[in-house]
Amino acid sequence: MKHQHPAREGAPAVSPSRLAAASILHRVLRDDSYASPLLAAESLDDLSPEDRRLVQELVLGVLRWRGELDYVINAKTNRPAEKLDAPLRVALWLGLYQLRHLERVPEHAAVNESVELVKNSRAWRGASLVNAALRAETRERTAAPEDRVKQPANRLAIGLSHPKWLLERWIERLGLDEATNLARANNEHAPVALRINPLRAPSLARVLEELSAIGVDVRKSEIAPGAFVVSGGHLTPSARGIREGWVYVQDEASQLIAYLVGARAGERVLDIGAAPGGKTSALAASMGNTGRIVAVDVYPSRLATLNATCHRLAANNVSPVAADAAFGLPFEHSVTFDRVLVDAPCSGTGTLRRNPEIKWRLAAVDLERFAGLQSALLDTASGRVRAGGRLVYSTCSVEPEEDEAVAAAFLAAHPEFVRIDPDVSESVRTRDGYVRTFPHVHGADGFFAAVFERGEGTESRSQA
Ligand code: SAM
Repeated sequence: MKHQHPAREGAPAVSPSRLAAASILHRVLRDDSYASPLLAAESLDDLSPEDRRLVQELVLGVLRWRGELDYVINAKTNRPAEKLDAPLRVALWLGLYQLRHLERVPEHAAVNESVELVKNSRAWRGASLVNAALRAETRERTAAPEDRVKQPANRLAIGLSHPKWLLERWIERLGLDEATNLARANNEHAPVALRINPLRAPSLARVLEELSAIGVDVRKSEIAPGAFVVSGGHLTPSARGIREGWVYVQDEASQLIAYLVGARAGERVLDIGAAPGGKTSALAASMGNTGRIVAVDVYPSRLATLNATCHRLAANNVSPVAADAAFGLPFEHSVTFDRVLVDAPCSGTGTLRRNPEIKWRLAAVDLERFAGLQSALLDTASGRVRAGGRLVYSTCSVEPEEDEAVAAAFLAAHPEFVRIDPDVSESVRTRDGYVRTFPHVHGADGFFAAVFERGEGTESRSQA
């Protein structure tokens, strides 16, 4: 990927970080791309660590605050933001985000570089509009733009920069204060959590020493056994610990799900929805690379990423299988497993800090669509659990339709399974005996998990 706009001859340069941020935002806006793989792309490796951090800050910050920024654009240009040419909207997003949310960027840099971005684009005629809007913002900062909005739900949606329908759902379920806290947490930086990889790391002490030598402080996670959270310093992708596969960056909640599977040495594990391999590689580590993990995903390209992850982390007991598990699995019905994980595709509303573009794409009907797919995957999984074996269902959604409702429907349809009480900290256990994390409560991504066990003496339906 090249982070360049077709430059007009003689046009002054824009800083590499803003150029890269604008290019990524264009792709997110135009092609519905996801920001996180673009932010991890090798083409950014040439940037200094500081520039790279700025690209990340600009892209994720703009996408988190897009609702508020669009409202300010409407007010300052008298045009609906959605109707603006993409290069103008992106340049305004970047300029306004820096002026409104970043303290250390000088005003002139925020304004001039956005104007230059437009001059370098096919929409260069709009440079004066962008200049005027950004200068107006520097003269008269709109501190709480939503204050002018009369309708309370619209006011809240703009102030918290979330779609109104999603906020309304959360308010109805969690109450105003908690819904507000959740939305606020979604607009914060996500903490960086780590897993120490025993399959590559020389020893825990050596890894901690290495992290400390590069100025990275960590603390133990309070919710995921064995996980660490970065409490000071910056861990860059080029850090030795990451390059050598000693540590793997993985959210605490994601590590907690792998812990719930409880895979042990020598077991057979089925991992449905396995790519890009975060949980698969954690399972391999807990099994000391013994036994076998069959890692299923519908997208071969994502399985290629899983392969690369497993290779880097020396997870050698993994067999990737490309299959649409909603329609069964491409091996004998008699093949069953000690443990099965269904890490289901979902709306992702628990990961909006890391993937803020999702909130602008989702619609309420998507939740029903996901629930159908999730139930189909669980159905396939159920036939593959040996008697006495464990089945874990997880999502990174905070919506009950994809979580408790799917788990309850599964139990109703599969009396051969019982829900078991997971051995986890009280703070992540729900009243119904499930596991749930929230960004505003636990600092981790919002995950849901249900742990089921197949009764002894119950044969798999497919074998019966
Ligand atoms: N377990 C992964 C990890 O920890 O890195 C994350 C999995 S992600 C939440 C869900 C995965 O399910 C995606 O990789 C997606 O490609 C896969 N998926 C979606 N529909 C599927 C289907 N019908 N059959 C198998 N995998 C599917």
